[in-house]
Amino acid sequence: MNDTNGRGNSVRRRVEVLNIKANTRHIVRLLGPIEGMLTHWRSGKSTPCPGVGKCLSHEREQSTIWKGYAPAEEWFDELQAWLACVLEVTECLEEEMRDRQLRGQIWCLTRPQDDKKSAPVQGFFMEQSEENELGLAVDIVPVLERLYHGKPMQLGVANPIVAKQIREGNTSAGPKCLVALQSNGPTSEPITHAEMEKKMIAAGYFKDSKGKWCYGRK
Ligand SMILES: [Zn+2]
Repeated sequence: MNDTNGRGNSVRRRVEVLNIKANTRHIVRLLGPIEGMLTHWRSGKSTPCPGVGKCLSHEREQSTIWKGYAPAEEWFDELQAWLACVLEVTECLEEEMRDRQLRGQIWCLTRPQDDKKSAPVQGFFMEQSEENELGLAVDIVPVLERLYHGKPMQLGVANPIVAKQIREGNTSAGPKCLVALQSNGPTSEPITHAEMEKKMIAAGYFKDSKGKWCYGRK
């Protein structure tokens, strides 16, 4: 069996779950869709939720953590090879990856070092591979069963995070008060309402009968 990459490096490896740890960077190519599940944090580790109605933690209203898993392969530059893995996808990362045809997509995944216990995983879509370049997608279930020591789990759970609200910026005219503020020092200093009005008047503004600032002659 050929298990080297032509340079004599072994490229056989057990398929494991890849979770992105702090201060690391990984180049990963997705091979299939993300499957979600709920977990509970119990006795210092993640335990899969077997599903509402079958779960003691749920009856006790303990909090849940959603985790997604997707078949993937990670690039190892020293081996010049893609090695199969199951990518753990956090709630935030899933939001970045949502509504995409993930198969064949190469992502750069990183988790910047942070004082906080866990800075969010950041993902950047880099490029799309051709179908004929892709490895076989592993079955994620046995990999997860091994990770969770065969505990019952329920896959197919949607990410419960409330969707980000994204709007285009409004590029209509800016506020008139900016002219007055910028004519007189930085805009970050605190200012009273009376001072603001003084500045507006000094900059040539006046209030009309409806209280709207106008510029120029009354
Ligand atoms: Zn549960």
